[in-house]
Amino acid sequence: ILQARDVTKRFGGLVAVNGVSFDVTEHQVMGIIGPNGSGKSTMINMISGSFAPSAGSIQLNGRELAGQPAHKVARLGVGRTFQLVRLLPELSVTQNVLAGAAFGHRRRWGPEAERFAHTLLDRLGLAQVAALPVSALTYIDTKRVELARALAGEPEVLLLDEWLAGLNPTELSTGIDLIKSLRDEGRTIILVEHVMDAIRSLCDRCVVMSSGTKIAEGTPAEVLSDREVIRAYLGDDD
Ligand code: ATP
Ligand code: MG
Repeated sequence: ILQARDVTKRFGGLVAVNGVSFDVTEHQVMGIIGPNGSGKSTMINMISGSFAPSAGSIQLNGRELAGQPAHKVARLGVGRTFQLVRLLPELSVTQNVLAGAAFGHRRRWGPEAERFAHTLLDRLGLAQVAALPVSALTYIDTKRVELARALAGEPEVLLLDEWLAGLNPTELSTGIDLIKSLRDEGRTIILVEHVMDAIRSLCDRCVVMSSGTKIAEGTPAEVLSDREVIRAYLGDDD
């Protein structure tokens, strides 16, 4: 469904992503893992159209995403959450989710969008806070709203950039279960994650990045026992 080919991103003299290629097939959960600063978010940001790659191609169902603006990429079928939550804080939870429905892949407005939003808010445990401004929510709830907003557009590929980061152990296990339920309904997900339990239990395959380069790809068991991968993590002073 998604093919990245020789994708490179330079910021001035820094090569944040260096010639990375991988394929994501339908219904697959692909992990992108690697130490801090290895280029994971930059890769996600290029897929979602936040940044244009300096070189290379990213295709969704044969259509080129590289260089397209983010709103167009969303329309073509990519939905996402951000490593640092980006919502409209003064608007209500429901309004944020409706924005996702209006600007996503399958656009919905009016009563149909409201019904769809309420179903998502129920599923994500947000029904009680639906009318509150996002600025009044707990951290985990803001993360849930971001996920609801992404799902509201019914993306063909869902990008989660460290959606589980910063959650306490209870929140983490419900968060992992939630992503599992998305996987079990056949969604295609690209998951950037540091939480090893989540990587092991959720990902079908993983791409491992280090200093902008893909250093390994395979099942979680394969890549997490790979010498070069272990060295990349141990060399990280995080
Ligand atoms: P983390 O695990 O800490 O989120 P990451 O793997 O997501 O790290 P990126 O955020 O992709 O890493 O960053 C890769 C490199 O690109 C880093 O050296 C970072 O400083 C640099 N970088 C990222 N975004 C920009 C930007 N907008 N302008 C300049 N440099 C950037
Ligand atoms: Mg990141």
